[in-house]
Amino acid sequence: MKKIVFYLFIVTLTLFSGCKNAFITSKKAAPPNIIIILADDLGFHDVGFNGCEDIPTPNIDRIANEGVKFTNGYVSYTVCGPSRAGLITGRYQDRFGFGRNPLFTPKDPQMGLPLSEETMATALKKAGYRTMAIGKWHLGAHESLRPLNRGFDEFFGFLTGGHQYFPELLTLKDISEVKSQFDAYKTRLLHNNTRVEIKEYLTDALSAEAVHFVERNTDRPFFLYLAYNAPHTPLQATEKYLSRFSDIKNKKRRTYAAMVSALDDGVGRLLDTLESLKIADNTIVFFLSDNGGPTNKNGSNNDPLRAGKGSMYDGGIHVPFAMRWPRVIPAGKVYEKPVISLDIFATVAKYARAKPTHPLDGINIVPYLLGKKKGQPHDFLAWRKFDQHRYAVRSGDFKLVNEGNDELYNLTKDIGERNALTDQTKMESLLKLKDQWTKQMIDPVFLGLVQNALYNKLHPDRWENVEPY
Ligand code: CA
Repeated sequence: MKKIVFYLFIVTLTLFSGCKNAFITSKKAAPPNIIIILADDLGFHDVGFNGCEDIPTPNIDRIANEGVKFTNGYVSYTVCGPSRAGLITGRYQDRFGFGRNPLFTPKDPQMGLPLSEETMATALKKAGYRTMAIGKWHLGAHESLRPLNRGFDEFFGFLTGGHQYFPELLTLKDISEVKSQFDAYKTRLLHNNTRVEIKEYLTDALSAEAVHFVERNTDRPFFLYLAYNAPHTPLQATEKYLSRFSDIKNKKRRTYAAMVSALDDGVGRLLDTLESLKIADNTIVFFLSDNGGPTNKNGSNNDPLRAGKGSMYDGGIHVPFAMRWPRVIPAGKVYEKPVISLDIFATVAKYARAKPTHPLDGINIVPYLLGKKKGQPHDFLAWRKFDQHRYAVRSGDFKLVNEGNDELYNLTKDIGERNALTDQTKMESLLKLKDQWTKQMIDPVFLGLVQNALYNKLHPDRWENVEPY
């Protein structure tokens, strides 16, 4: 009898725990890992999934082919800093005065992402994620604005808008030795609060750190912000990568190709790591560039888009953009309606069960990708360059752009913005949207790269007594 009672007890216990597990599984799917791979100044046409032929990018293409390719993926600004501020907050950066590309000013607590803003990393960390930023920061060099104070548990990289790629060119011990804006490109790298020496080509070093971070964090959800500075200038590549492009005769294009190829190798190492650890299925990977290619500077190619980095034409803001999440999104999807980098925060917050503090401008795009929601994700998207009085607004097929004059294009029919339309009613309706949007924005709260000389005049002690860091 005792045996039977004991047996029934065990059966009941087993059934109960089984139900409990089933309940947990159905009610709460495990939160996904999140990886954002951000390239720097990569041309729209310079990935295989957008038709590039002279630079193979098989690994970056895996993200698009095994997930979604966005044919109308945008960023929120035409150059590095403000675009990153939009991405990491999920908000138009002009809402909080990040309308200029920041200077490198380690003593200035106003130069960068205001502390009133919450980063994606902070929101995810509060939701239980382990967080790491790797590579280019560019959101403030003052102590209060650095990654470890903005939601990241770990940081490996540099604080500036760009960096030298060869270890032997990293000749400055720390920021106390920096005496001009571009000196900072030569500092040794930071690992959390410590300056470290690297032995590898910078892109390879960043890739190695990304792999190590993932390997260390298989037991909990993680967020990795992998912000390569490649293929931003200076144009520097090792023979290992240059030798792959001996058939490219243009020297600039050849070095650029080598830099993109190194980045692609790094993406491959990271994706392979996810697979070997068996966590690829529930890891969301985004890939995009922070702005369009500066074709004259780094040899990039934005075809078929008009113009490039710095411009309000699509070449400045319409970027290579892909996402992969095998558990939820079927492979081989092409999504054609306009989306923007601001959508990344809103999308991952939903599945990470994070609670952003501020209202986001981005939206969760997954229901659109799965066909559960139809129509346009955004009524409109808007951009402005405060100092230059330039702006653009896109709503559905149409875009109004001002690079000196108001011009109207139908991007679905004319992606290269060649044939300006004369539809006054359409123009006025887009201008009205732009004006309503602009009223919600504020003026820049710090001087930027184009005001470097003015900043130096106003702050003659800019480089004096900078704390070693
Ligand atoms: Ca950039």
